[in-house]
Amino acid sequence: MTIPIAKDWYATERLSDDVTLIWEPHVDAGIRCNMWHVRGRDRDLLVDSGLGMVPLRESIALLAERPVWCLGTHSHFDHVGAHHEFDERIMHGSEVEIMTSPTRENMVIDQYVTADIFTAYPYDGFDVETYTVKAAPPTRLVDDGDVIDLGDRVFDVLYLPGHSLGELGLFERKSGIFFSGDCIYDGPLVDDGTDSNSDDYVESMERVKELPVTVCHGGHYPSVGRDRMIDIADEYIAGRRTAGCPAAD
Ligand SMILES: [Zn+2]
Repeated sequence: MTIPIAKDWYATERLSDDVTLIWEPHVDAGIRCNMWHVRGRDRDLLVDSGLGMVPLRESIALLAERPVWCLGTHSHFDHVGAHHEFDERIMHGSEVEIMTSPTRENMVIDQYVTADIFTAYPYDGFDVETYTVKAAPPTRLVDDGDVIDLGDRVFDVLYLPGHSLGELGLFERKSGIFFSGDCIYDGPLVDDGTDSNSDDYVESMERVKELPVTVCHGGHYPSVGRDRMIDIADEYIAGRRTAGCPAAD
């Protein structure tokens, strides 16, 4: 089967609260990452940067207008591909090595990037076998309890390991908006990666359940409200605990 070349690689949708969702529609839902842009008074925030197969800032006017702090929820290829386009790159310290020396292996590209995840390719000559992500070492490290201050909007940094070692979430107390990365979203959760830990995952889920969230904007799949988010967390916790995961009971 010949895979066509995409005309427009990115799509955007402006939501309420000055939040814009950016995504890559020609990629399978489980791989396609939600990129979240937040307009702030002094600077803007971008949570995750997608696959990096097509220049992001050139394609999205919103990202070229003002200073942007680009935060990576974790170092998997589908979340940090365009990080190298941004001067300010914020991540958790345990992801530094991978972001400095990315390979197809340590970014889990080999496992997931195959022709069948695409309905269209990003450009003529694209090759799934040689696709990689450019090095983009973080310029600022954050950890649990730190804040991301956009001038008029402040996000608490949450350290939520389990899916990956350096998984971060961001919570805005004022609005109840929660950017949850790949810790929690309304789709199959992944805890069997090389940097996953299901005991940590259970702990992170317990923590997420306590947050007074109004909307959970995850790393993949559509956003959910608090009730659904808690159901997902409970399902995960129950599954891990009844599946005989040794340290989780
Ligand atoms: Zn991931």
